[in-house]
Amino acid sequence: MLDRALVDGLFPSDLPDPSHWEQRYPARELADGAEVTRFAPSPTGFVHIGGVYTATIAKDVADHSGGSYFVRIEDTDQSREVEGVAAQFDRAFEYFGIASEEPVDGPYGPYLQSAREQIYLSYVRELMREGKAYPCFATRDELAEMTKRQQATKVPTGYYGSWAVWRDADPDEVAAKLSAGDDYVVRFRSPGVQAGRVSFSDAIRGRLEHEANRNDVVILKSSATSPRLPTYHFAHAVDEHLMGVTLVIRGEEWISSVPLHLQLFEALGFPAPRYAHVAPLMKQDGGSKRKLSKRKDPEASVDFYVDAGYPSEAVLYYLRGLANGRLAETPLDQALTEPIRLEECGVAGPLVDMVKLADISGDHIATLSGPTVLDAVAEWAAERDPELVTVLTEHRELAERAIDVERVGVDNPRKDLVRWSDFRSIYGFFFPPLFTEVTDASDERFGGLDASLVRKLAADFADNYAWADDQPTWFAQIRELAARHGFAPNPKTYKADPDSYPGVLRDAANAIRVAITGATRSPDLHAVCGALGTEEVLRRLRALTP
Ligand code: GLU
Repeated sequence: MLDRALVDGLFPSDLPDPSHWEQRYPARELADGAEVTRFAPSPTGFVHIGGVYTATIAKDVADHSGGSYFVRIEDTDQSREVEGVAAQFDRAFEYFGIASEEPVDGPYGPYLQSAREQIYLSYVRELMREGKAYPCFATRDELAEMTKRQQATKVPTGYYGSWAVWRDADPDEVAAKLSAGDDYVVRFRSPGVQAGRVSFSDAIRGRLEHEANRNDVVILKSSATSPRLPTYHFAHAVDEHLMGVTLVIRGEEWISSVPLHLQLFEALGFPAPRYAHVAPLMKQDGGSKRKLSKRKDPEASVDFYVDAGYPSEAVLYYLRGLANGRLAETPLDQALTEPIRLEECGVAGPLVDMVKLADISGDHIATLSGPTVLDAVAEWAAERDPELVTVLTEHRELAERAIDVERVGVDNPRKDLVRWSDFRSIYGFFFPPLFTEVTDASDERFGGLDASLVRKLAADFADNYAWADDQPTWFAQIRELAARHGFAPNPKTYKADPDSYPGVLRDAANAIRVAITGATRSPDLHAVCGALGTEEVLRRLRALTP
């Protein structure tokens, strides 16, 4: 064992002892059954939708148990940190309602690991004083060489047993290295190869048994770095303890680390939290399934949903349904407030189906009031489409009439608005500043109708136009217009003698539709004209008149 003075000399002399931190962060007072959970993303890239999924589960479990949920930013890998990620995190957490429930300056903070260096160092020193951790001077090259030899002799790779060269090194040699100022990491002295198997219980998976950890893993990174930060594993043990986490809900990829984590809790003298390992979101890729991938799938990024403007409720509802099938069968409002149960989370990763999400989103938007939709579109557009914001503000009444078309007073409201980013393409034509008048009568949208006839239809329709609330009465104007200009009343009549007609009623109606909406397909034209108002209808028709 290393001399205490030698160990202490490696750390700042004013570094507090663990008891200081134990006092500073007293155990939380929790009601029976209350769970403290956390979301612990690393700022190494965009927020993965799988992170939102796991965080949603974590927050839900905390909230329904009367506990607390917080976000801890795990930035101990500073070389992989991505610029500007903090702002993106905040936006995403806000959007999906998974922001921390504890203020940044809350009693268990700081919640940024790089700001907790002192805390970790106190505990590393304590383990070193107790001989439960030791400095290791093996260089990167030496370790790579060791791995090669292990692979060649087909023994498990890792720093253990006789491979753990600095584990029981001569204290004089260690002291000499230290005084020479050589770089070192600190390794955990694991129970070693004798440890056997370990069994633990997972709140999603039940009882699990794994081989115990035998590796002397690194707990504190190189002495040549500043700040001097711990590895994920060590920070995990220290933080969950001091932050009072009762239930660690995290991705399945960490299951294999549980044996090590349990050893670390034990060595530190901390009771271990309970664990729940969430299965990853999957994607159908041809005939097989794979994890939704940061690199390959745009829909893996939270920004994808925010930028496209999927309403967060729709995404959350979808994610909750993936977590607990029961919630997918429950109406949205209710499903958003009913508890997620860990025991109902699947062990196999659920498949993310964007078509299903679009259906959910369209269904959900169809239930929202016009003003709610418009406000959400304006909020989405604020940073993305300033022109649309201006239009929606200046033409608010028109917007309210437009959004009601085929949504209010109908048995089956339209569900084509799925994302706020679709608003412009679906509703843009209602707004004069976003609408391009059709002035060319030979435009192909008129389906090959003679240009002079198109102009005549538009002029005649405008000259005789009168608004009528009653749809059949209103539509009779188109019927009469078509008849006046010699169109066949139906396809059958037309087909019997095609040379006698310029087209069918439908063709005349299309010409009017194109003039008014700019498209050959539109929502019910009567309702559209009602929303536009007579003056605007006439203005559009007259744009075609020579
Ligand atoms: N920082 C880890 C990650 O981003 C968190 C794992 C955990 O939740 O403990 O994957």
